Amino acid sequence: MPSTMVIVLLRTTKTKEEGIMGELPRERSITLDFESQFRVTLTSSDFAAIMKAFLLLLPQFLEDFFQKVLVGFAEYELSLPQKSFSCTCCGNDRDFVWKTRHGKATVILTWFRWLTLQQLQVLCKRCGHKQYITRTLLGMEPRQRVPEATRRKLALMGALTSYRVSAKIGQMFGWAVDKMTIWQSVQRVGRQLEFLLDEKEEPRGEADGTGIGITGIAKRGKELKVLVQYKKGGGIRVAGLDIGPYNGSWQKLFRKNLAIFKKFTRPFLLVTDGDTAIFDGLKGKVKILTQRCLWHIPYQGKYVLWQDKVARKSADWLHVLAELMEICAIRSLVDCPETIRAMLESKRRRLDQVIEFCRQKSYSHTVSYLENARADMFTALENRLAGKTTSRVERVMRTVNMRVNVSKWSMEGALNVTKVRLAYYYNGFDA
Ligand SMILES: [Zn+2]
Repeated sequence: MPSTMVIVLLRTTKTKEEGIMGELPRERSITLDFESQFRVTLTSSDFAAIMKAFLLLLPQFLEDFFQKVLVGFAEYELSLPQKSFSCTCCGNDRDFVWKTRHGKATVILTWFRWLTLQQLQVLCKRCGHKQYITRTLLGMEPRQRVPEATRRKLALMGALTSYRVSAKIGQMFGWAVDKMTIWQSVQRVGRQLEFLLDEKEEPRGEADGTGIGITGIAKRGKELKVLVQYKKGGGIRVAGLDIGPYNGSWQKLFRKNLAIFKKFTRPFLLVTDGDTAIFDGLKGKVKILTQRCLWHIPYQGKYVLWQDKVARKSADWLHVLAELMEICAIRSLVDCPETIRAMLESKRRRLDQVIEFCRQKSYSHTVSYLENARADMFTALENRLAGKTTSRVERVMRTVNMRVNVSKWSMEGALNVTKVRLAYYYNGFDA
């Protein structure tokens, strides 16, 4: 049975950011009468059978629809004195005639399936140059097969779950997309994402590194480094991301942010659970206050005590742990310099006593760990900077690991999928 429908198409002026078409002087709109006729044979009227038949119909309908809309807009463009495109040869943007409305076939990927379109070609009346305008009208790059909107959807899907599951979900809803296309989309979108500090947000953040499971790369060999920044309204955003050697240089990640660090009116307070020597590269370039993550200290304390072979829950173990817990417990800030000074003195004295205790007992790992941490434990308190000195980057790391462990990854592949994933969870990326 033939169906007839009238579709009104409205198109508003594109801005420069949306690109491609450039600026148009006014709102554009065309109206198309769209008639389409399909013959469908069905053997059953049940739900699944109707859906299945529609999925076979859909691509034909979609192709017709795209073709018709594109021709409609091209006709409209040609009727305008000034076109939104210009001759790639002579720059003319006024005098064109049709070469063909059914030129060489080309394919583009929608989120239903690949479509084959007959390219539209115009002829420049000034220089005789022939050019295709299909992708110009679509807002796509020349020869680009996967539109940005499709690519972002595929990339997000591929970053949120495994490629196998992504492909399966697509298939369930009639999108026959293969794993390789999803993988490529993740890579391309990931590569384009850049994480930087935002000078309008808080001058505080955390840096953390974690070994990640990449097949073919030893677990402890490579590390994912993440810099997060606290947001004014609460929550965090990712301000830097890299995969590199374990305990290796953070320079690369911070170098990109150097100029932004300098824009903050107060020095940036960086919370980290690692050795702050990793930030030595920043010295002299920008003032950053480093603060050990106090949440990590008792936690890491258990590990170094174990290394020193101190029995769990023994008297010594309990003593060291209890002291560390108390030293690291910082109440929300007392706004009185004298009190702060007294607190600092008391905490440092207690810490020194714990270190001395461990030294006498020859708990060498614990001694060296605490001595190393000592200088950066009370930076926030000393500078009267209220707020959390506990790790929030921890959760970011768990978010990463959920995805990265599920498959085989090259280093760049792992970085790209992590970028898309974190951009979605923390930096407002969506598709
Ligand atoms: Zn020309």
